[in-house]
This record gives sequence, C-alpha cells and structure tokens, in this order.
Amino acid sequence: MSSDGMPSALFPYRLRAGQEEILREIARISESGGPLLIHAPTGSGKTVATLAPLLEHAERADHKILYLVRTHAQEVQVLQEARAISHRLERPLLSIGLQGRGRRCLLLENVAEMKGATAEEHGKLCGDRKRATERGFREGSQLLPPPELPEGGPVDLVDLDGCVYYARVLQADMEVETDRLASKQPTPREFEEYCRTENLCPYELSKKLVPSSRIVTAPYAFFFHPHVRRSLYAWMGVGPERVDLVIDEAHNLPEYLRETTTVSLPLTSVRYARAELAERGDFQLPDGPSASRLLDIVSAAEEELLQSLVHEDDAILPPNVLEDGLLTALGGTSHRLDTWLGSLATWGENLREERRRERKLPRSWVHTVALTLLSWPQLDEPGYVKVATKSPRAALEAYALDASLPAQPILECHTSVHLSGTLAPTEEYRDALGLGERSRQLSVPSHFPSSHIKYLYDPTLSTRFEEIRADPRAIPRISDRVSSLLQSLPVNTAVFFPSFDLMEKVYHAGLELTIPSTSVIESPRVSTADLWRSIDAHKQGTSRGVILGVSGGRIAEGLDFPGQELEAVVIVGIPYPRPTARREALRRFLDARTGRGWEYTMEIPARRAMQQAIGRMIRSEHDRGIAIVLDHRAPAFADIFPGLEPVGNLASTARAFYGRRARWSGSPPGSPAPQPLRGDSSLPPS
Ligand code: SF4
Repeated sequence: MSSDGMPSALFPYRLRAGQEEILREIARISESGGPLLIHAPTGSGKTVATLAPLLEHAERADHKILYLVRTHAQEVQVLQEARAISHRLERPLLSIGLQGRGRRCLLLENVAEMKGATAEEHGKLCGDRKRATERGFREGSQLLPPPELPEGGPVDLVDLDGCVYYARVLQADMEVETDRLASKQPTPREFEEYCRTENLCPYELSKKLVPSSRIVTAPYAFFFHPHVRRSLYAWMGVGPERVDLVIDEAHNLPEYLRETTTVSLPLTSVRYARAELAERGDFQLPDGPSASRLLDIVSAAEEELLQSLVHEDDAILPPNVLEDGLLTALGGTSHRLDTWLGSLATWGENLREERRRERKLPRSWVHTVALTLLSWPQLDEPGYVKVATKSPRAALEAYALDASLPAQPILECHTSVHLSGTLAPTEEYRDALGLGERSRQLSVPSHFPSSHIKYLYDPTLSTRFEEIRADPRAIPRISDRVSSLLQSLPVNTAVFFPSFDLMEKVYHAGLELTIPSTSVIESPRVSTADLWRSIDAHKQGTSRGVILGVSGGRIAEGLDFPGQELEAVVIVGIPYPRPTARREALRRFLDARTGRGWEYTMEIPARRAMQQAIGRMIRSEHDRGIAIVLDHRAPAFADIFPGLEPVGNLASTARAFYGRRARWSGSPPGSPAPQPLRGDSSLPPS
C-alpha cells in the first residue's frame, strides 16, 4: 500500500474504474494465497492491476510470478506493463518471455523435416546438438560460423552437427546479458532480434535468464505439461509454494486441459505405422502374429467401428469393444496382447534411436501406435469417454472429461489469479477446474458507456438444426440477409458463423457474389501464420473490409481490431457447440458433478463465444460498434445484449449510429459496396 492510500505503490498509471477493486483483491490474495477468479472486461486494465500488487508481494517474499498466456499479443502486453511498473522500482526488474523451441530455434528453423515435428522430437534433436557442441568445447574445437543457408532451398538436418547458437550462449557472460536485458526491457520481438544479431539461441538464453527474472511469461504448455513444468521449476530455482501464477484468457483453460489430455488413435497413424514396417522390414511377435498382421487387424477394427457406428461427427464406443475385437481376431489373452504391443513399442523405440543416430527426425509411428494401444484399457470412466470420431479426422479417441485432474498443479502454487473478460459465471470455471469453494471471485462491471454498442437481432432467422433441415430456403435466406446487412453497413465488418460447414453453405448460396473481393475468409485449411498475414493486409486496406469467420475460431477469439479496424459484428445463429457424442458425455459428466450439465456445456460456451466475437471490436473506451445476431433466440441472452432490439431499417440505424461521415473511398455510408469475388477465397468452389 502506498502512502497516498493506493492499494499498490507500484501501480504506474492513474486509476480507472474497477482497477482499485482488482488491486485490493490481488494484494489480499497474494498475502493469504489460494485461487482468485477475476471477470473483468477488455480494456479494464486488469493486466497491470494484477501485476503491480503481485510484484510488490513477490519482491518482498522472494516469489516468482509465472504469467501464462495463450497468444503473442498477451505476452507483449504483460512485458510492456512490467516495463511500465519497473520504473517505480528501486532496482532493475528482469522479465522474460519463454517460448517453445518450435518458435525460437535458429538452427533448425529452415529444416524442411522439422515442419510438424513434436516438441519432444525437437527436444531430442536439440539435445543431441547441444551435447555435440559441449563435446566440441571439451575437445577444444573452434566455433563454427552460423550455417550458410543454401540459396532457395531448406537446410538438410543431416548436415547440422553441434549448434553454434548454443555455443554462443555457453560463451556468453550471463551477468552482462542480465544487466543488458534488465536495463533495456526488450519486447519479445526485440529480444529475438537481438539474439539473431548476436547469434545467440533465444530459447537457451531465455532459459538461462529465468533464475534472475522476477516475472516469467510462458504458454500454457510450460505449466500444464508435467515434464516441462518440472523443468520450469528447476530453471526458476523455486518450488510451487513460491510461485504466484497468473492465467490469462482463463476461460479457455478447461477446454484446453480436456483437449491436451485426450488420447487419440488416428486411422492415419495406424496406416503410417504399417507403411513404416513395410519399409523397415516386418518381424514376428513372441509366440504370436507378425507385427504387420497385428497392425492390419487394428486398422480393420478401427475402420469397422468408424463405419458401423459414426453417422454424423462421432459415436460412443461400447465398453471394451476395441480390446475384445482385437483379441477375437488375434486369439489369445489381454496379457499376451500387452506383450505383443510391448514388443512393438520396443521396436519403435529402437527405430527412433536409430534415426536419431542417423541425424534424422526421431519419429516412429509404430512406437506411437503401440504406446496408445497399451494405455487404452486404462482410459475409462469416469474421467474419460471413448468415441469413434470422423471430425476433425477419423480416429478412436479417449476424450478427457475431467479438467480438474490436470488442473491440480494450480492448487500447489502459492497464489493463482485467473483472468478473463468472459469468465462469468465464475463458479462454472471454478467447478470445471475443481478449484474449491474457497476460491475468491471478483466480477468487475464494464465501465464503457452502454451506448457504445448497439445490439440488434433478426427475429425471422435461426440456425437451429431442425429449422434448417425442415426448410430448403433457410440457407439462401441467411445468405441474402448477410449480403443485405453488409450493403447497409458502411464500416469494416466481421461475420461469424457457428461452423465452417454452415459458412461454406451460406457462402455458396449467393454471398460469394456480393462480398468484396478483398474479404478475408477463415478456413481450417489455412495456417495461422497465413491467416495473420491476410488479416494484417486487411487492416492496412483503404476500402471497407469484410471478414468471414467462425464463432470460437482463431479470428473471433484471438485478434484485436481497435478503432475503425472493426465497427460491426454479425453473428449468424447462436453458436451452441455441436451436439456431438463427446459433448453429450461431458454434459452427463458435469450434470452428475454439479447438476448444471446443459448450462455448462451448451449455454455458457455459446454466451462466451458471442461475447468474445463482439469483444473483437470493443478494445477501449473509444471504440464503438453495432452487433447483430441473426437468430430469433437472441432475446434469451438479453443480459449480455443490453438494449437488444429487432434489426429494422439497418441503413438508417447505421447512419444515425456512425454519423454521416464518408470514411470509405468508393463506399459512402448506406451505399452498397459489393464487388465481384475474384476467386481468391480459401473456400473450395461449389
Ligand atoms: S540450442 Fe537453440 S538453436 Fe540450437 S538446436 Fe537447440 S533450440 Fe535450436
């Protein structure tokens, strides 16, 4: 507490509405410890209001702040706020942003084989090159210059021995590096540029800076992957009892934990494993079939289950159906099956080591498939449900229902602060993660004037499955409606659909002929890097822009469009999650645990998806926009759409709302701006 009564002496700005409450709660929880759940809208300044009092306590108690982020933009923001706070400290503050090798490895970044390598594979390759480098040092060899990239072509993995970037880190004077970085407080990009200029490995250098850093940012995986978490604690030089954890965009966490603990056996993996055996040579399993025959039987059993059970997205597997099917086809006991799978796993492990010695990607599909099948019988209820699924790829899956198990390490930390603009209702989040009744909860209301968003809805449309199926004109009507709305909106507009499938149907039902040719269209087939590039180009555009995306997708949840970059959002249909077998199993699981299964699995995700989508355009108190929900069910969500009214005459509403400013060249307010699409859409032709 500062002498002027401010709850944190380190808070670097003038207080905004809601921030004082956050400061006080953080100051309290950092003393007492335990979880604190904060729902506070975007633009409320919750990052700095969290960091300042937490840092004050961490400095006093010699704790570390571990700030988990989902996106690069969040990491940048945390480090910028840390820089602002550091001016109030008497000694330099070192904050460091960790990223995985996939983003930070300078040596292997141009190796074609590394595209799609797992973190484990990358770690093994990096480890080998580090050991070779250390051996070289011991034997007194000279440092190699950084590898020359062949013109126009990728580097071959086999040509790379040792790692010059690691060697430079070993030679670096860490005291000098620490002082330099503490005084400069670089952004992640500046840090990476510095490393590139100095030929220092950014991954290894940031690791070495962690012990001297008070604030460490990292992607979720650094904390929730058990092996990485152990390494992280070792690098930080503290145990969890001296860690104050912050989880940003925390509303994502339960689903993230379910996804990362789900175990999948894709049909393609079994086929790749079979091809690996064909290439490397088949072998006989002890007192049993050949390895290739076992894999053929696995593949046939999986195909049969997919074909007979899955009619839409997925279907629940009857108990033990895979194990029983394999034993019937192979003959024998489950003990013998385990022995055969163990032999397959050993063969695969040997292949991985062999490939590693050959300086190739240490991958074996046989190994992956064998380990999955060995773990399969243990993955049962209540924590898992087994399904056959065709979406997003054909696979058998043990879908993790219980996010509270992988969330347990949170409770080992001294403090955990869970932040999001869409965390409410916080008890749903608390229950999903098993954080306990004693978790503190804070909800900070929006301080933006409600007049900054106009909420409209169309009472004549819906994306309800039954309504779409019963009426062949339903999709063309939605397409016409979106086209006419876009013609009436004189501003940058994003249209979010409940699924890619519906987006494609609406697009090909006429929308493709009316949206501007410069429109950005989200597609699951486009890489995130390419999508971000299109969005950047879109933001630089001088004419009115249109984005088509999906609710809950990469654009609707991961990007900011402040000011005039986005001033209208159209939400096509209430984005309830698809009623898949997995979702139904989750509903039953949460019903048994909380009695609120439907609300937690359907209603709250739909609500959050709409808030997130609309939130893209309101990033500060200066932003304004119109949000239109094309679904007659919108009034059921009136609490998140204050002042909701039917859409009526949108052109005149838009003129009144945005004012009579002719902002867009060639597209004055109220006039249509369609241009023919030039076929550069990422959607396939109809
Ligand atoms: S030390 Fe760094 S640059 Fe070298 S291989 Fe490992 S991650 Fe890549």
